[in-house]
Amino acid sequence: MVFESLSEKLQSALGKLKGKGKLSEKDVDLAMREVRLALLEADVNFKVVKDFIKNVKERAIGSEVMESLTPGQYVIKIVNEELTKLMGESQAKLTFASSPPTVILMSGLQGAGKTTTAGKLALHLKKQNKRPLLVACDVYRPAAIKQLEVVGERVEVPVFSMGDKLSPVDIAKASIEHGKKHGNDVIIIDTAGRLHIDEDLMNEIVNIHDAVNPKEVLLVLDAMTGQDAVNVADTFNQRLGITGVILTKLDGDARGGAALSLRAVTNKPIKFVGMGEKLDDLEPFYPDRMASRILG
Ligand code: GDP
Repeated sequence: MVFESLSEKLQSALGKLKGKGKLSEKDVDLAMREVRLALLEADVNFKVVKDFIKNVKERAIGSEVMESLTPGQYVIKIVNEELTKLMGESQAKLTFASSPPTVILMSGLQGAGKTTTAGKLALHLKKQNKRPLLVACDVYRPAAIKQLEVVGERVEVPVFSMGDKLSPVDIAKASIEHGKKHGNDVIIIDTAGRLHIDEDLMNEIVNIHDAVNPKEVLLVLDAMTGQDAVNVADTFNQRLGITGVILTKLDGDARGGAALSLRAVTNKPIKFVGMGEKLDDLEPFYPDRMASRILG
């Protein structure tokens, strides 16, 4: 289950407050100490945890409790609201260009799920009556082009590729002309992954970016990598200026550290989450629903 371990620990920490008719500052302190530990164990960024606990405490101590809630319920409500805020408050939607096509640049490390997610996104857009085009710009691994073609076939979305002899910048530019000619209103460019942040490949994606001026620059991150994912996001954001994150493999993430830290560290929203290997396992990300799910 998503965030199972974090969820259990938070529920246990806050559950102790639930029945209490009156809360002392010490009760809140003790509970917050447990919440702090639970968040740190979930691999949430240290500073994010510190600010979070401070905000909850400030609101919980010395404030008037609403009549309809017990003090314990009130603290849980505050934690829920602060968790929601941490993840970005409201759902962040994709932005579309006022005159099509909308160009979406996909970026990320190898293995994060970029190619799969490009296919998932194409399917999601197709269901919204868009006419997406997938573009294969990873010229370093012939298998990558093939993989995108297979994904495209499965979601019944055309794939534009020019083999592995041309530069990714030229392929990206040509794909936009092709898309315009064929009535594609969204162009999803799959780029070469990298094992680690790599200067050459980073320069390449910056060049593609400058050549096609994308409306969305989505960074695909593997939720299971926790704070590493957050560090990757920080670097990509500084170099490339991302517009949002797609957090994959959330279905296997019991901890939740990346989901809870990304927004606060990068100030960029999580737009979608990957919830499985199937091509329809992509969901828009709703911070409020996620907070409620964590608190049970
Ligand atoms: P890329 O190297 O970034 O293009 O990554 P791929 O798209 O090849 O994906 C790497 C692996 O992660 C594949 O086995 C995918 O099936 C798997 N994967 C991608 N997204 C998800 C997800 O949301 N959940 C799960 N469980 N697996 C995923």
